[in-house]
Amino acid sequence: MPDWQQVYLSLFEVLGKKVKRNQILAPFTSFRVGGPARFFVEADNIYDLKAALKIAQQFNFPWFILGRGTNILVSDNGFDGLVLRLSSGFSRFIVEGERIVSGAAVPLPELVLGALTNSLEGLDFAVGIPGSVGGAVKMNAGAFGKEIGSLVNRVTVLDSSLELKNLYRSELTFGYRSSSVKGVILEAELMLKRGEEKKIKDQMEMNFRLRKKNQPQGCFSAGSIFKNPPGDKAFRLIESAGAKGLKVGGAMVSPQHANFIVNLGKASSADIYSLIKEVRERVWNKHNILLELEIELVGRFEDGNF
Ligand SMILES: Cc1cc2nc3c(=O)[nH]c(=O)nc-3n(C[C@H](O)[C@H](O)[C@H](O)COP(=O)(O)OP(=O)(O)OC[C@H]3O[C@@H](n4cnc5c(N)ncnc54)[C@H](O)[C@@H]3O)c2cc1C
Repeated sequence: MPDWQQVYLSLFEVLGKKVKRNQILAPFTSFRVGGPARFFVEADNIYDLKAALKIAQQFNFPWFILGRGTNILVSDNGFDGLVLRLSSGFSRFIVEGERIVSGAAVPLPELVLGALTNSLEGLDFAVGIPGSVGGAVKMNAGAFGKEIGSLVNRVTVLDSSLELKNLYRSELTFGYRSSSVKGVILEAELMLKRGEEKKIKDQMEMNFRLRKKNQPQGCFSAGSIFKNPPGDKAFRLIESAGAKGLKVGGAMVSPQHANFIVNLGKASSADIYSLIKEVRERVWNKHNILLELEIELVGRFEDGNF
């Protein structure tokens, strides 16, 4: 382990008060759980980001890039390293004809609205996905049979040598909730299609209604916990394994959508983690199918990670 005091002094030297120590991560996640990050930096420009990552490389300690925290479960023990979050300098998007060039920190709902007001179609599936553009590209966020990867024309990343790199469509691959993008995504260029505002709005409203009908609203969750196994739906398997409504501490398998776990208000990360394991075991016992996590575990959990 590095000399943490020395690390702090190095970070402080270049970033000053932008470096926070022991920042609780719960408020930065949609589950509203998770302990402290040893160091936390909101990088509003490329210089801060590079400086922080350079120190992480120099002292060889772990770092994590946090988007809007809507697809992660952070341990109650937090993250023993540096958590970086992109802020103001990465929070704008521009529309040029049928192209949208977006900073990675732009909330996806903002981009969806931007597409609608510019009569651009293609992002209707993303209505109600609460992540950032960076997180959405990294995870290849999708719904209703569509994914953001199919719209991506270019991604600008900060790579492991801390160089800016443009990755074009032909160099990128997107899979089911995964992408080949490595490094920190700073910007994405999406290609949409000119459409009719009224038609786009109708489609978005329909998708929103479907979401409202099928998914718990206004709860602390991280969306779907597990990926759908080939040819089946995780929610169906969980339901038929009798896990719908199951509770551990303050966490519950949503009675509305069995692949959602909700924090009823006072859940710990350990409650959610235990519930995930219980659900997975029940599905395994009943169906002989081992569900794979869609969300990402951040930090250390009691028995390692699965
Ligand atoms: C109510 C609800 C509904 C949801 N519905 C859907 C849905 O329909 N479809 C769907 O696909 N997802 C859904 N999600 C999950 C989530 O919103 C998406 O996966 C989203 O794209 C994650 O973005 P984020 O910014 O929150 O990423 P985070 O959760 O912060 O991070 C997720 C991963 O992306 C990485 N990451 C984040 N930003 C960057 C960056 N700039 N550069 C590189 N890596 C980065 C992180 O390191 C981490 O590995 C839902 C979540 C909720 C809470």
